[in-house]
Amino acid sequence: MCDNGKIDILSMLPDELENAVAELGEKKFRAKQIFEWLHVKKVSDFDQMTNLSVQFRSVLNQKFCIKSLFICKRLESNSDNTVKYLYELEDGNHIESVLMEYSYGNTLCVSTQVGCKMGCRFCASTIAGFKRNLSASEILLQVYTAERDSGRKISGVVLMGIGEPLDNYDNVVDFLRLLSCPEGINMSLRHVSLSTCGIVPRIYDLAGLNLGLTLSVSLHASDNKERSEIMPVNDRYDIDMLMKACRDYFKTTGRRISFEYALIDGHNDSMDDARRLAKLLDNFVCHVNIIPVNKIKERNYSSDRKSAQRFRKYLEELGVNATVRRTLGADIDAACGQLRREYEI
Ligand code: SAH
Repeated sequence: MCDNGKIDILSMLPDELENAVAELGEKKFRAKQIFEWLHVKKVSDFDQMTNLSVQFRSVLNQKFCIKSLFICKRLESNSDNTVKYLYELEDGNHIESVLMEYSYGNTLCVSTQVGCKMGCRFCASTIAGFKRNLSASEILLQVYTAERDSGRKISGVVLMGIGEPLDNYDNVVDFLRLLSCPEGINMSLRHVSLSTCGIVPRIYDLAGLNLGLTLSVSLHASDNKERSEIMPVNDRYDIDMLMKACRDYFKTTGRRISFEYALIDGHNDSMDDARRLAKLLDNFVCHVNIIPVNKIKERNYSSDRKSAQRFRKYLEELGVNATVRRTLGADIDAACGQLRREYEI
């Protein structure tokens, strides 16, 4: 729905659009035409759909709305081609996206919720709590708007911005279907990663859909006591339940899982932590991504690349495949949640 009570047409999948068009007494192929106007030509007004009759356009206008995002702020990095966008939604809420350049193409990090309920201690996105889920169209528009603004083709998406994607499961799945729709921008979901803090039942659901995307799991600790301290979600779905779901995901989809490990000095960076992690990941085709924790002003956590390299060495000695994540856009605070926080206070 849009704020004026009309139906959000950009969130509709091709078959939903076909049914809606049929209900209005129009032929099926009209749905294809509308879909192309929305997702290929990316118009923002029904009056621009010039191969539809004026009368039909007016009916569409009464029943449906085409959502849009407003670029509130754009920060460009001086050290690499990273661009961070602060978007304003139609209801005045704010979200962030980060455009990153890799050797294989441009990737956009998108938000999936306004705020977050998960309460991870080190994360800026969760501090002011949760406001609402984003619609499929609001996630998709982050891609369309960044592409139009930057003039750069976006060939990959990571769902690692503000919010927990699996806590907004239905809209996120619709977004993935729209993103990969052959009649739309047709992005291969092999170029998409979804990051979760570990909502176990939804990991099983996602495995069942077998969409071909990469699952990133924010593990960040190898024992339940430490993980519960920094990630309250662990009280609900502990490490054993999570690892079982991850092994099932790999078995069902054949896709290698990437485990995120935000290194926090004095919390999860010892040789013992590495040993426990290696044991957890024993015999599992996966990859560990070590991220030195980004400082946020509300918390006292810290780490640096040196500690991250040391921890990577520990893992290497134990036979675990790990890398330290490259830092992009460090000069513009490209880690998500920080810009929105500044803006809303
Ligand atoms: N809710 C999802 C996706 C959003 S966060 C999730 O938890 O995976 C994307 C990644 O950034 C997660 O791995 C998250 O734990 C990590 N992250 C959040 N704040 C961070 C910080 N201050 N430093 C390093 N990583 C952080």
